[in-house]
Amino acid sequence: MVISKLSHFLQTITFCNKANNEVSFSILRLDQLHPVISGNKWFKLLYYLEEAVEKKFPAIATFGGYYSNHIAATAYACQQANIKSIGIIRGTQPTVLSHTLQQAIQHKMELHFVPKTAYKNKETIVNQMPSCYWIPEGGYGIKGMLGASLILKNLPEAQQFSHILTAVGSGTTLAGLVYAALPTQHVWGISVMKNNFQLEKQVSNLLLPEDSNKNWKIFHSFHQGGYAKQSSSLFHFMNQLFSRHAIPTDFVYTAKTLYAAKQLLQQNAFASNSKVLIIHTGGLQGNYSLPKGLLQFL
Ligand SMILES: *Cc1c(COP(=O)(O)O)cnc(C)c1O
Repeated sequence: MVISKLSHFLQTITFCNKANNEVSFSILRLDQLHPVISGNKWFKLLYYLEEAVEKKFPAIATFGGYYSNHIAATAYACQQANIKSIGIIRGTQPTVLSHTLQQAIQHKMELHFVPKTAYKNKETIVNQMPSCYWIPEGGYGIKGMLGASLILKNLPEAQQFSHILTAVGSGTTLAGLVYAALPTQHVWGISVMKNNFQLEKQVSNLLLPEDSNKNWKIFHSFHQGGYAKQSSSLFHFMNQLFSRHAIPTDFVYTAKTLYAAKQLLQQNAFASNSKVLIIHTGGLQGNYSLPKGLLQFL
């Protein structure tokens, strides 16, 4: 897949605004990029994949959990690039595989299940398979950041926005957006994990000092109970968003980010006349782990 101009993935969106302070929102629908490898994952993988192919590695290996969008995306991208893929999966092999893992297998990924304690020791796992090209978990790294920076670089309208919002897992995407942003722009990350205060350091470790000083921050109060935690208010919000704007979201990342945007608006966090760009980072395949009927769009 070639990434060209992303302009046609822009959609405007309005939230009920009691503060009435003239804030406008647009959403970059990267979920529409591709049915399988949507959102930020494709961007993050790009330069890793390029290097693995260039250096003729026999296989690409990476890490992830049962529901990892990164695993699903890596499996598909490797199949497309005609390179063998191996997924090191956190936890013992379940009797019924998640939709994510089934899909990874369909795309010819070889899965290795590693119990949680052994999984922590990634270096040992890597050393056992030295011929593989290893992509860090979540695509975290300089190459992942540079790939993610293409999200803004390929969007000519990007410079018009005062704020850019994204979900934060490993912080790689946020770092890429900061890297590509103007010094005048505010890049805000919504952490989907509870109390993950390592994130700021994880992001600055990827950035050059001059970029580290840009206007970026991570909000830690919109996780809705913690990573992948479900709540009826979140599902209600997702269904409402879909019926009003035809925007499907995933319950782990993008729903929390849009919910945060709405709440930040109500808290008057944006100055008057702010123009906010929300990145829809995709990840819709994660919704298949939910019971049927919860969401209007599954
Ligand atoms: C992986 C993922 C993220 C988090 O991206 P990071 O670069 O790890 O911070 C955000 N949204 C979706 C949908 C994802 O799948």
